Amino acid sequence: MCGIAAYLGSEQAYPLLTSALSKLEYRGYDSAGVALIDGNGDIHLNKTINKVASLSENSSKASIKSTVGIAHTRWATHGAPTVPNAHPHVNNDKNIAVVHNGIIENFAELKAQLQKQGYEFVSETDSEVIPHLIAQQMKEGLDFESAFASLNRLLRGSQAIVAVLASEEPMICALRTGYAGGLAVFPDHNGGTITSDLSAILPFLKGTDVQVGVAFLEPHEIVTISAKGISYRDENGNVIKKDLVKMSLSDNVVEKKGYDHYMLKEIMEQSDSVLAATRELIDFSSLHFKSDNLSVLSGSSFDRVLMIGCGTSLNACSVAQTYFEELANLPTEIYSSSEFRYKKKFVNDKTLVIAVGQSGETADTLSAMSEIKALGARLVTVCNTPGSQADQLAEESYFMNCGVEVGVASTKTFISSLSILYALAIYLGSNVGYLSETAVRDKIADMLSLPDVIAETLKDADSFKEIAHHINFSNNFLFLGRGINYPIAIEGALKLKEISYIHAEGYAAGEMKHGPIALIDESLVTVAIATQDMLYDKMVSNVKEVKARNGLVVALVNESDDSLDSDADYLIKVPAVSPYLAPIINVIPLQFLSYYIASARGCDIDQPRNLAKSVTVE
Ligand code: GLU
Repeated sequence: MCGIAAYLGSEQAYPLLTSALSKLEYRGYDSAGVALIDGNGDIHLNKTINKVASLSENSSKASIKSTVGIAHTRWATHGAPTVPNAHPHVNNDKNIAVVHNGIIENFAELKAQLQKQGYEFVSETDSEVIPHLIAQQMKEGLDFESAFASLNRLLRGSQAIVAVLASEEPMICALRTGYAGGLAVFPDHNGGTITSDLSAILPFLKGTDVQVGVAFLEPHEIVTISAKGISYRDENGNVIKKDLVKMSLSDNVVEKKGYDHYMLKEIMEQSDSVLAATRELIDFSSLHFKSDNLSVLSGSSFDRVLMIGCGTSLNACSVAQTYFEELANLPTEIYSSSEFRYKKKFVNDKTLVIAVGQSGETADTLSAMSEIKALGARLVTVCNTPGSQADQLAEESYFMNCGVEVGVASTKTFISSLSILYALAIYLGSNVGYLSETAVRDKIADMLSLPDVIAETLKDADSFKEIAHHINFSNNFLFLGRGINYPIAIEGALKLKEISYIHAEGYAAGEMKHGPIALIDESLVTVAIATQDMLYDKMVSNVKEVKARNGLVVALVNESDDSLDSDADYLIKVPAVSPYLAPIINVIPLQFLSYYIASARGCDIDQPRNLAKSVTVE
């Protein structure tokens, strides 16, 4: 995922910015670049498709005297990872440089308008419209800061943008246009630093464990840094005061981004997961698939899909069963890898086998994969670790690209797996003509809007914490769901078991009356997933059945839904999305419930007893 660093101050900018970029490397990137402004107000660009270290080694740039610059690590979404596509991008007069994280949804129309007016583009990126737009607004009479502020109204989508005006009195402006793409501002005496990630602030600080005050930009707020100081504006252009959050930063704290646990940090990172996981499969500028990266799926015809995985990955497979059945019209089976190994196998070269796993090193999955391969099935993998054994065994790998997951209980890799599996199902469905071109585009567009919906859901963390506080007394939990949300009930129960050691079961709600109903009393907590889909009414009846027996109910419903308000003891309200994407949203409050319940019980959340992150024994 992409990263940003910007600096205006009194020290040499280049070494600071390149070390900031090296702190951002862990997020993954495909190219990087720096723009420096020298004392004459000229921009010097240095970009690479190699590692950040190759920027630091470029001594001709390192020797430029400059105390102002912006820097970027890019995760290409629009255009291949090439030097011209790497950021920063500049305008035709070469006095504005820009770095950008995210996707400009209306870039095609903006680019066409700008080209008509004579602005020349040198890259394939959506980002390059930004320096030209600022230049265009300045040509119409606005000053740099106001021209930059107009991006708030001109650009659609969720992004973080930093621009620098090259002049004898340089100025840096930064903006978030949505919930994805956070920016932290660290003021100091002679200017300030802006970074997309707290870890990138460390090189700008003196010492290794320091107290700093950091301001976090809210969506649509703008910060301006110049030799005159730092100022903030809201989206209407009014000057505002921002409180500095006091933080004691050290490498250790920064790795957790100030969160108490990696698990919480990783839950909070999930708004980046969908696009990071699918950008190698989908060209978001044209809403088309990148068939070259899907050669196993494009080149063959399949008569069925078989998915294998363990734990959370197995739950992702179960959700995706609906994707492949309904979107690709293919009979689909799922198996836990450990069970699949020892059963009679019916696979051949018409079977698409998808092995899902976070580490790519899970022993059960690897053994099953090698047997499947020997039987001649077409084998692909969804995993988070390039170079892992799963990657090596598979004909084709689809990487989650969500950065290392440290917490033993998987969270962000679940959302990443689901995003990839959803994309694969749409691709297969479109290849066989089962999905129309319009349906494909609509579904990709739904994915594009998901980061904001995830970010909105994450903002409710405090209300999930409050509910967790009321239910953490119980030693028995039942999670109920139906259809595509049945695996989410299982995943909710799994999370709770893993980190809080509370007994929890995930059940298909319709099965409840065939057994678990006997457990219901006032000490059993039932978490019912009842967001709007074709099984909603049935789910509501199941909730009423629990309430009729004095069970304590936490109902997870859509925001606009008040039909369970008087039945449920506690309500979790989430934004409505397409039923296929609902599992991605619905799992988030369940992750939070487990986290806060485990936290209240004083459990070792990141390293729960008896569990390992990568299960390399059978
Ligand atoms: N959409 C932009 C590009 O493809 C920015 C990608 C990023 O966030 O790094 O260049």
